[in-house]
Amino acid sequence: MAAQETVDHKYVYDFAEGNKDQKVLLGGKGANLAEMTNLGLPVPPGFTITTEACKAYLATGEEPAGLADQISARVGALEAAMGRKLGDPEDPLLVSVRSGAKFSMPGMMETVLNVGLNDRSVVGLSAQAGGNDRFAWDSYRRLIQMFGKTVCDVPGEEFEHALDDAKRAKGTTNDLDLDADDLRGLVDAYKKIFSKHTGREFPQDPREQLDLAIKAVFESWNAERAVVYRRQERIPADLGTAVNVVAMVFGNLGPDSGTGVAFTRDPASGAQGIYGDYLANAQGEDVVAGIRNTVPLQELEKLDKKSYDELLDYMARLEGHYKDLCDIEFTIERGKLWMLQTRVGKRTAAAAFVIAGQLVDEGLIDLDEALHRVNGAQLAQLMFPRFKLDHEFQPVAKGIGASPGAAVGKVVFTSARAVELAGEGEQVILVRRETNPDDLNGMIAAQGILTSRGGKTSHAAVVARGMGKTCVSGADELDIDIPGRKFIVAGQTVREGDVVSIDGTTGKVYLGEVPVMPSEVVQYFEGELDPEQTDDPLVKAVHRIMTHADAKRRLAVRTNADTGPDAARARRFGAEGIGLCRTEHMFLGDRRELVEKLILARTDDERDSALAALLPLQRADFEEIFREMDGLPVTVRLIDPPLHEFLPPLEQLAVNVAVAQERGEDVAKEEALLAAVRRMHEENPMLGLRGVRLGLVIPGLFAMQVRAIAEAAVTVTRAGAVAKPEIMVPLVGAVQELETVRAEAEKIIAEVVGDSGVEVLIGTMIEVPRAALTAGQIAEAAQFFSFGTNDLTQMAWGFSRDDVEGAFFWRYLELGIFGISPFESIDRDGVGRLVRIAAEEGRAARPGLKLGVCGEHGGDPESVHFFHEVGLDYVSCSPFRVPVARLEAGRAVVETTGSDSR
Ligand code: PEP
Ligand code: MG
Repeated sequence: MAAQETVDHKYVYDFAEGNKDQKVLLGGKGANLAEMTNLGLPVPPGFTITTEACKAYLATGEEPAGLADQISARVGALEAAMGRKLGDPEDPLLVSVRSGAKFSMPGMMETVLNVGLNDRSVVGLSAQAGGNDRFAWDSYRRLIQMFGKTVCDVPGEEFEHALDDAKRAKGTTNDLDLDADDLRGLVDAYKKIFSKHTGREFPQDPREQLDLAIKAVFESWNAERAVVYRRQERIPADLGTAVNVVAMVFGNLGPDSGTGVAFTRDPASGAQGIYGDYLANAQGEDVVAGIRNTVPLQELEKLDKKSYDELLDYMARLEGHYKDLCDIEFTIERGKLWMLQTRVGKRTAAAAFVIAGQLVDEGLIDLDEALHRVNGAQLAQLMFPRFKLDHEFQPVAKGIGASPGAAVGKVVFTSARAVELAGEGEQVILVRRETNPDDLNGMIAAQGILTSRGGKTSHAAVVARGMGKTCVSGADELDIDIPGRKFIVAGQTVREGDVVSIDGTTGKVYLGEVPVMPSEVVQYFEGELDPEQTDDPLVKAVHRIMTHADAKRRLAVRTNADTGPDAARARRFGAEGIGLCRTEHMFLGDRRELVEKLILARTDDERDSALAALLPLQRADFEEIFREMDGLPVTVRLIDPPLHEFLPPLEQLAVNVAVAQERGEDVAKEEALLAAVRRMHEENPMLGLRGVRLGLVIPGLFAMQVRAIAEAAVTVTRAGAVAKPEIMVPLVGAVQELETVRAEAEKIIAEVVGDSGVEVLIGTMIEVPRAALTAGQIAEAAQFFSFGTNDLTQMAWGFSRDDVEGAFFWRYLELGIFGISPFESIDRDGVGRLVRIAAEEGRAARPGLKLGVCGEHGGDPESVHFFHEVGLDYVSCSPFRVPVARLEAGRAVVETTGSDSR
């Protein structure tokens, strides 16, 4: 029974049998060829071998049972459809064998063209082509070259050298000067190369050629470059590739033939029109190889009006059918148009928004679908400043856009030099082959980072993204000489101190200073560009889609801000309150002295007087924020970090004291400080005396802050605004901690608030695993929870959040232990589970408990979807990420209804 099932399993689909929704089984190319066939478009006949056949082959090293027979049956049908037979010496059928996975992986896997040619059928091909011997022998030599290289691992250079030799003998550098006899000679040379490397003759049996080519495509799924590409693009490794076997059509049969690509809209700007390139008398690979220059697609109208009109008609039909931008590959063989490929086309971030808006206008999609088709990463990209590029700036190299933004600065080659020059006020770009943890200081000091090695998950890329620094990695055209403090690119030498400009979005590198311009999307969010007045299509599209996202979303979006200007900006960006106002920043600068007094206090009086001096300053801080956030909730977190962070570092202090003592100076104050720093020194300060623990140990500290918050709220309210303070206690792990702080706070609040009408909520962060696990108890004492997913991630994994990203995450990413840093995107299975438990148990104990998140994850697109799913009330993120969170919160709602169109 089992054997019967295996035999019957369908591994091969004719193009007429599939459709566009079968990408998992037939790959993107196969599914779309089937769709075009069913639409009645002129697709050369062919069939697709499924990804399941590939997976079975890769698992066992053998073709699955039944595959060979199914291929035979389909080849027979293909021969009948074309009226030609594989290997026929008079009138041969030739096929192409192409890979095609669910997700497009350009150039990563194999293709073999002209399968079916041999010493005899080459003559028949010439006859088919009207006695064109040159064409036939050129096709044959291309087959041996491609087949040798991709199927039998013959080094490609050997074929290239032989081709160069043939051209040299002819006294030319142009392939087209080689005539039929030259190419026949080249076929002999290629066959010798083939047998030298493989120990066998070039296979003359077309079916053997076909079977070997199919296996080579299967195996190319696991080729190193494909594996690396998948890892970078986060494409699952277990999908496998389909194989498309298609009757060959030729664009190189004379001036009435050619090949081209077309887009139904401009993939860069989204503008409607006819975009594409055409090359007469050529095959697709000639376009890729750049042997001759293409002409704009519009020129085809003059060359072949009939094919041009037909192509335009198909383009319109495809766009209407797919309801999206399509890209197309086509070939014209002696005046007959053939459609070789189509797919929903890749596009820039700007084009994604513009096209989604246009498609709504055209009635092809609704606003939900438009929202589904854009994303927060694209929006974030549109918010970075960009280079203002005109003709004078040409890139000299292109690497990987590893961390977006536009950075300009003087080239430096070492971390130390970066720190030194930055200290002198210079903007620098740190150039390294690859960075390592020793480069961290230089990376912090630099405007941007440029490396010649490494991909999106290299050390440089991961660390730069974490810091929000522009980074281009893997610009391998750069020949870097670190000891010589120079690099060579495009024949030019760039030395330390020369200025370069790097674009972390496109990966392009420019010599000299390229002017930078602000993003028009940010100008729109800032309220400087009126979407009704501007005629910028991008701003209009962003406005429309954001408005829809806001109407759809259930999650509120707040911001993390601790100054008036930050709060104001976030409000302009759409923040609906402050989810985290960190108060520790308010203890720095000229207030350090007061904090030192507080720490050094030996008596209650000394401590109380330091706190009394801090109180009016804190009150003023909160008044400013409450005024900016008039009418919106403001969550103020009581001081969190260990107090020694406000004191000078131990080593520096020890040296200062020693030097001063040596000179006989009065060091009483410094000695006291040093003693305090020594006393407070902790091996693991992130797990030490901080947060609520500090509040319970230092009398009056939290009380001063609570009083400042309540008094500020009353003052602002009496002045006519509405203050909605929420006091948040950090690092709580046990309900008793919260109860103690709360009892004291409530007394102060009652005393301050009086009959002012101000209401102050008291809640807690959930950022210690124990708090998540005892959330039911903690909820009894908390009016709200806010998840501090930074600390929760740190403590759930046991990863020091300050150290590990630069230290070893690149290795974890390389090994696939995680696909993305858990500090960047929530670890759903581990940390996310703690969030779920706390949300459920908290709400069970206190129905309607307000739940939010204020860790960095609050602005991460993937994580926003998770927080929507878990049922939080709001996310809170840095001001710049507020629009991204609004968009993603809207997308989270429409996600289940949208289509999987890309
Ligand atoms: C957190 O831990 O997620 C948090 C928001 O607090 P902080 O980053 O200030 O520790
Ligand atoms: Mg925290």
